[in-house]
Amino acid sequence: MAAKHVPSWHDDEVSALYELARGFFEREVVAHVEKWDAQRHIDRSVWLEAGKLGLLLCSVPEEYGGGGGTFAHDLAVFDAQGYAGDLSLGIGVHSGIVPHYIVKYGSEEQKRTWLPPMATGEMLCAIGMTEAGAGSDLKALRTTAVRSGDEYIVNGSKTFITNGSSADMILLAVKTDPKAGARGISLLLVDLRDTPGFQVTRVLDKVGQHGADTSELSFTDVRVPVANLLGPDEGKGFGQMIDQLAQERLVVAAQAIGGMERAVDETVAYTKSREAFGHSLFDFQNTAFELAECATIARTCRTFFDHCVEAHLRGELDGTDAAMAKYWLTDQQCAVIDRCVQLHGGYGYMREYLIARMYEDARVQRIYAGANEVMKQIIGRSL
Ligand SMILES: Cc1cc2nc3c(=O)[nH]c(=O)nc-3n(C[C@H](O)[C@H](O)[C@H](O)COP(=O)(O)OP(=O)(O)OC[C@H]3O[C@@H](n4cnc5c(N)ncnc54)[C@H](O)[C@@H]3O)c2cc1C
Repeated sequence: MAAKHVPSWHDDEVSALYELARGFFEREVVAHVEKWDAQRHIDRSVWLEAGKLGLLLCSVPEEYGGGGGTFAHDLAVFDAQGYAGDLSLGIGVHSGIVPHYIVKYGSEEQKRTWLPPMATGEMLCAIGMTEAGAGSDLKALRTTAVRSGDEYIVNGSKTFITNGSSADMILLAVKTDPKAGARGISLLLVDLRDTPGFQVTRVLDKVGQHGADTSELSFTDVRVPVANLLGPDEGKGFGQMIDQLAQERLVVAAQAIGGMERAVDETVAYTKSREAFGHSLFDFQNTAFELAECATIARTCRTFFDHCVEAHLRGELDGTDAAMAKYWLTDQQCAVIDRCVQLHGGYGYMREYLIARMYEDARVQRIYAGANEVMKQIIGRSL
């Protein structure tokens, strides 16, 4: 087998974290996949174990309970999750997205309140942007937060929310000024524990990522302290979301490249072990050529991903490259996994085989975190 490519942004510490994360995902997620799939959520004990191992909030400063590393540490964890072949644990949202809003825009008190329990896994979080009538077009969101003394009264609903039924806290996109379009959007840190008016209306039945509790949520006269507004001023939420998007797209790209590499490794091993017509499947020239092409796609994607991560670590990743990484790597993830399913024959369509579950899990990568068509729009605007 070709030597495994070591990402250019790995040092010894990041490599060790990657290996630790790989073991964690195999042991805690993949090994119990039937249970997670059936109950449509992953037990809190898994989150607590992730926290104990230092796999959560790796790049949040230590003074707020985080790992004190760089975003490379977080990406190593998401890369390992992709390689494990199961994307059900909503760690990308919990660790790769929400805490970075709090670090960047939160008050000192907000950082001290929310980040330490998130780092241990005691507090699980979600992000609520999407609504039935507002997905790609986020400006159209209709959930309102009306000021009443030192509280906001929140009304509305959200859909497709990762970690939705288990979360203790949600970073919620609301309209504080419904007449002001994008400039009327604010982000609120909403405590969901024993909160009157908050309801999980449905845990959704998805094509893949069955262990993820992707949910519909409803808010009826939910009272949120004004102190839970993210940032000092109302109306900054849309800008905050746009600002965080390049980094968020790397989270999805990391899972995509990890998944592509696993699909190739898995299929090389499978086709070398199965015999037909008196020799291994791998001995068919078509099989070797298919896998040669898939391995080449994975390697070239890895190289571009490395370039994007290095730029991000220098603070120089531009939105166009991030959009290219999200679009191209998730498209290629789906294409490579589809070819690998084919090389598995009927077994590739059976959920007891990892490649079949990877096929299911991968499809949505082209849709969430900004649909790939939206990525092409961003890229197109830069040309
Ligand atoms: C499993 C899962 C988990 C998710 N987790 C979360 C979460 O945690 N929090 C959250 O807030 N949201 C979450 N989402 C929502 C996700 O981000 C949205 O589904 C996504 O942004 C697309 O919005 P939409 O589904 O409303 O599709 P629409 O906006 O209706 O778009 C449908 C299709 O139209 C096309 N299209 C849309 N806009 C354009 C355009 N400008 N140019 C060209 N074509 C376009 C694209 O093909 C797109 O796929 C999740 C979704 C899923 C499925």
